[in-house]
Amino acid sequence: MSQFDLVILGGGSGGYACALRGAQLGLSVALIEEDKLGGTCLHRGCIPTKALLHAGEVADTTRHAGDFGVKAEFVSIDMLAVNAYKDGVISKLHKGLQGLVKSRNITYVEGHGRLVSPNTIDVNGTLYTGKNVVLATGSYPRTLPGLEIDGVQVITSEQAMKMERVPSSVIVLGGGVIGCEFASVWKSFGAEVTIIEGLPRLVALEDESSSKQLERAFRKRGINFEVGTKFASMTKGPNGVTVTLENGSTFTAEVLLVAVGRGPVSANIGYEEQGLSMDRGYILVDEKCRTNVPGIWAVGDLIPTLQLAHVGFAEGILVAEEIAGLNPRPINYDGVPRVTYSEPEVASVGLTTAQAKERGHDVVEINYDLAGNGKANILKTAGSVKLVAAKNGPVLGIHMVGSRVGELLAEAQLIFNWEAEASDVANLIHAHPTMSEAIGEAHLALAGKPLHAHG
Ligand SMILES: Cc1cc2nc3c(=O)[nH]c(=O)nc-3n(C[C@H](O)[C@H](O)[C@H](O)COP(=O)(O)OP(=O)(O)OC[C@H]3O[C@@H](n4cnc5c(N)ncnc54)[C@H](O)[C@@H]3O)c2cc1C
Repeated sequence: MSQFDLVILGGGSGGYACALRGAQLGLSVALIEEDKLGGTCLHRGCIPTKALLHAGEVADTTRHAGDFGVKAEFVSIDMLAVNAYKDGVISKLHKGLQGLVKSRNITYVEGHGRLVSPNTIDVNGTLYTGKNVVLATGSYPRTLPGLEIDGVQVITSEQAMKMERVPSSVIVLGGGVIGCEFASVWKSFGAEVTIIEGLPRLVALEDESSSKQLERAFRKRGINFEVGTKFASMTKGPNGVTVTLENGSTFTAEVLLVAVGRGPVSANIGYEEQGLSMDRGYILVDEKCRTNVPGIWAVGDLIPTLQLAHVGFAEGILVAEEIAGLNPRPINYDGVPRVTYSEPEVASVGLTTAQAKERGHDVVEINYDLAGNGKANILKTAGSVKLVAAKNGPVLGIHMVGSRVGELLAEAQLIFNWEAEASDVANLIHAHPTMSEAIGEAHLALAGKPLHAHG
């Protein structure tokens, strides 16, 4: 039996961040992973999808090169070459991460782990005991009753990012982040795309104004979508997959991508047997990611917080620091930056208008249209920066739509998390011409001194 300060089950964003920080703080750490170090984000999530989206951006740039006076001709997408580029990025990062884990003297264990006591994980008969055990087994793509994933015609994001050709047409079931990102990629690659979303709007967790702008932009790009009507049934035939909705309408396409959310990986690995409190498979934790069983912690997609890699990182670090006695501050989940990396991007931090009102704030808003921003005109992108603020108080939310606005979150999250007021930001000078000026201009307007804006 091997004994450690920290035994971590799952080497994805949450697990490996916890391992790296724990080792840095002088804890002895074992990290157990049955597949590949880096988990979903590196191998099946963030990184591959963003590589595909970038390839899509290059395709669109080539198609529209003439708009910028550049003669170029878009010929076709070579999926084998796209995959080679994407896999090259993953492989480089994977090697880097493996080196990092090794350099911190973390004991890396390959194999399927099972929680067999509150402080022990069994990996193929070898027991790893920790003063603390951190569960970080992540999530898997969900499907709906009546929707069997066959991996060819009916697929999840796992198969979607490994396709060796561009399908002629795709139905994307689910208009959340993952669904919208794949819809965007496939449209850029030349497929006919239809999104089906049961909720009344695309990216329904975002501010309503962001959804409306994304829908407008998608319509302009020729991405079809049906919102507010639920999936009823699916049949497969020689012409592809036909989906029928509850309102009776039908859609047929070569491929159906099921992107209806992700569920926690928590079954049959000993969690129930150890008496862990769970809800629909998610492990329940307190604000420091402690479970109800002393010495067991849980982080990442396995717990019911935002399913994002950087949330997993933050939770992993929080747990390591708490165990090392640093008494870190709990995470303010409102302050987590969120991006949908479609074209255009949707990015936000803080509260939506609806949430701010629900929490009793006297809300003021400002919408700065990117039409007034020099760099946005140069890039030929449309969108806006919307601010939600408390009347005579801090900024409560920043919501942005447009090409590359995800990069603007670096500043937006400081504004929200440091509880800045409009006048604080209005005093900061933003470089011209940059997209970041739109943030400055929005705050100038909110502070009552608009520059390149009417009001
Ligand atoms: C298509 C897609 C795109 C995404 N894009 C983004 C994005 O752009 N930005 C972002 O922030 N997030 C994104 N995400 C979400 C992000 O990938 C997850 O939030 C993140 O990976 C969660 O980390 P985790 O450590 O909780 O779980 P995971 O990364 O899933 O890691 C869990 C690990 O545990 C291992 N494991 C499970 N059970 C066992 C066991 N019994 N024994 C041993 N090992 C086990 C698994 O093999 C896995 O490696 C995306 C996800 C998907 C699917």
